[in-house]
Amino acid sequence: MALYITDECINCDVCEPECPNEAISQGEMIFVINPHKCTECVGHFATPQCVEVCPVNCIEVDPNYAETKEQLMDKYKELMGEEA
Ligand code: SF4
Ligand code: SF4
Repeated sequence: MALYITDECINCDVCEPECPNEAISQGEMIFVINPHKCTECVGHFATPQCVEVCPVNCIEVDPNYAETKEQLMDKYKELMGEEA
């Protein structure tokens, strides 16, 4: 599943540089995650790095983007420009 940022976000900008897929950016009101780029950090790290660093725990899994580990790995390979 991709992750998403809830409106509890305090715009601290700590998560954005931690994302290995450059999936996080400053949105209109709060920071946002591009679900097409978020792999839950699969392929890069054992745990979602944004969740690790967020001081207010406002990053949750998005049930609208249900994906298996295999699908996340395929997404990672696609983002890296490798054959899935
Ligand atoms: S889980 Fe990983 S890939 Fe997804 S937004 Fe957070 S840091 Fe980026
Ligand atoms: S680390 Fe958390 S509070 Fe800070 S910008 Fe990212 S989502 Fe928002």
